Amino acid sequence: MSEVFSWREAPAADFAVIGDPVAHSRSPWMHGAAYRELGLDLRYVAVHVPVGEVAEALDRLSSLGYQGVNVTVPHKEAAMEWCVQVEPTARRVRAVNTVRLSDRSGVNTDAPGFMDTLRDLGLEQGGTCLMLGAGGSARALAVALEEAGWRLRIWNRTASRAEEMVSSLGLSAEVLEEPQVEGAGLLLNTTSASLSGAELPIDWSVVSSASVAYDLAYGQSPFLATAAAHGLRTCDGLPLLVAQGARSLEWWLGVEAPRRQMAEAIG
Ligand code: NDP
Repeated sequence: MSEVFSWREAPAADFAVIGDPVAHSRSPWMHGAAYRELGLDLRYVAVHVPVGEVAEALDRLSSLGYQGVNVTVPHKEAAMEWCVQVEPTARRVRAVNTVRLSDRSGVNTDAPGFMDTLRDLGLEQGGTCLMLGAGGSARALAVALEEAGWRLRIWNRTASRAEEMVSSLGLSAEVLEEPQVEGAGLLLNTTSASLSGAELPIDWSVVSSASVAYDLAYGQSPFLATAAAHGLRTCDGLPLLVAQGARSLEWWLGVEAPRRQMAEAIG
């Protein structure tokens, strides 16, 4: 667990992650490791911001001299609204996860960071993705996948929420009543089912062992364990955490992020 500060009592520092809750965030370790590797005298802290206080908190961190902020659940939309300059993908998915305070500008590094991780998995050629879930993180990834030419099928426990996501984002994705795995080279679990240990209604007997199973949750999950037992390659959420953090650092500081050291700090 990182040390957490209330935004009203935020210490002198340079960068922060804000969220509610935020104590579980590994970003302070990851960015701290990057600064040490780069020889930069910078400090990155975790700051708790309750719902409804994002604008006030960002104003305060800005006045304290913070340069930038990463934004986690549930504040990505509120952060977008605080920013006066928002890059197009972040505006489309209504989620800013990286803010530069000096000019109130915001970007979304989850979407390109996710594509970095697919490249590292050798999946840059695209194909068909079965996306499980239609929550906050699914939105950015669905847009990134379609922009990169992937065919997208989406299954969500609450089908109406998947329908709403597809229509509000203008996606051409198909919404499924049941998770349909045949022909999908990428099975992407964006649900929070892994956090509670819940199983998803997948018929593993028809999954191709050539597919890749990707879970946004960190570490082993029932989804990845079952996928591995059926011979699939697997990827958990840590590479995405590193990829989005590395892109945030690069956007703020204009230097190449030391991804290996960042990954080691949270591995
Ligand atoms: P949201 O709360 O916005 O969405 C949760 C989604 O999970 C919904 O689609 C919900 O379906 C579904 N869900 C929840 N419980 C179950 C269940 N028992 N069975 C089936 N579906 C279920 O969450 P986020 O999108 O913010 O986060 C989702 C996951 O991604 C979390 O595990 C989170 O930790 C992880 N994450 C990882 C990141 C990383 O960097 N690796 C970044 C961001 C998130 P319904 O609509 O029916 O409720």
